[in-house]
Amino acid sequence: MSHINSKTQLLGLLGKPVQHSLSPVMHNAAIKTMGLNFCYLAFPCDSEGLSDVLTGLSAINCRGLNVTIPYKKDIAKQCRELSPLAQHLGAVNTLIPMENDGWFGTNTDVEGFLAPLINSSTNWTDQQAFVIGCGGSARAAVAGLQTLKLKQITILGRNQKRLDLFLKDLKTLDGYSSQQKTILQGCLEKDNYIPEIISADLIINTTPIGMASESKPLDPSQDLPLGSEIWKNLSPQTTLYDLIYNPRPTPWLSLGKSQGCRCIDGLEMLIQQGAASMRLWTQQKNIPIKVMREAAEKALKP
Ligand code: NAP
Repeated sequence: MSHINSKTQLLGLLGKPVQHSLSPVMHNAAIKTMGLNFCYLAFPCDSEGLSDVLTGLSAINCRGLNVTIPYKKDIAKQCRELSPLAQHLGAVNTLIPMENDGWFGTNTDVEGFLAPLINSSTNWTDQQAFVIGCGGSARAAVAGLQTLKLKQITILGRNQKRLDLFLKDLKTLDGYSSQQKTILQGCLEKDNYIPEIISADLIINTTPIGMASESKPLDPSQDLPLGSEIWKNLSPQTTLYDLIYNPRPTPWLSLGKSQGCRCIDGLEMLIQQGAASMRLWTQQKNIPIKVMREAAEKALKP
């Protein structure tokens, strides 16, 4: 976006809140490098207004939208068509305008989540993964993990009903592209899961525990998923993947680093899901991911 003029086309983000989102800086940096006459804005919006906002943005020829908390689920019902992945996950993070009105909903969070795992030198075949939390982002994470030919994925929840629903939905995704049957199982926080989690090759935090908050400063010894005791004897062979990217590192990743673990935070997922959305909106293969990463990292610096 070098100059806004009468030909500038609109991209944007729907959610609430959106004022801390890194998406506008990241996408506008890409837009500038790609020489596109686009502009990406963040639109805070109430759930009652969501349908009108979508109709209005479609009417003014908006070229594409991202969707964030808390609308990833609700927006699926408002799409004229969904990709098979978005349909299975019940979550949409990217909207593409359809010919003759309406929106096509898809999900690039899975691609974003997978990128740092695929780009690492680790061979994930037959490895064991442990996922903490069974909310929205855990769905994308587990859908991604199901393509890695892992031996087993265990999901830890704190509510039996939500965990059962999660497993039911995600089991129908089995084989989404993987040829191999991966064991998908759940356990509750009260179960004796500690030996299993500690021996996992890959542990993923999908809860907001450890995320910076304006209301309360983080306590590095307390703001850890599942408390501090469990993480005392991590193996350096284990990879920790925290979907949170603020602060960098999170207390959990900081602790992992001190024990020699390989650590991945959520920034690359954010960047890669954004790049995948850009690819869909612009139909261009080469998205300046490095520029997006630099813009996001700069914006995150205190
Ligand atoms: P969500 O749908 O609300 O899910 C959060 C999950 O964490 C739920 O299973 C919830 O359990 C559990 N949880 C919350 N607080 C907990 C606690 N104190 N103890 C144990 N479990 C707890 O949220 P989400 O959309 O998945 O987002 C989760 C995190 O991922 C956020 O920090 C978000 O910023 C991050 N995220 C990052 C990216 C990225 O691109 N890097 C993308 C999406 C999300 P219940 O179901 O029992 O409430």
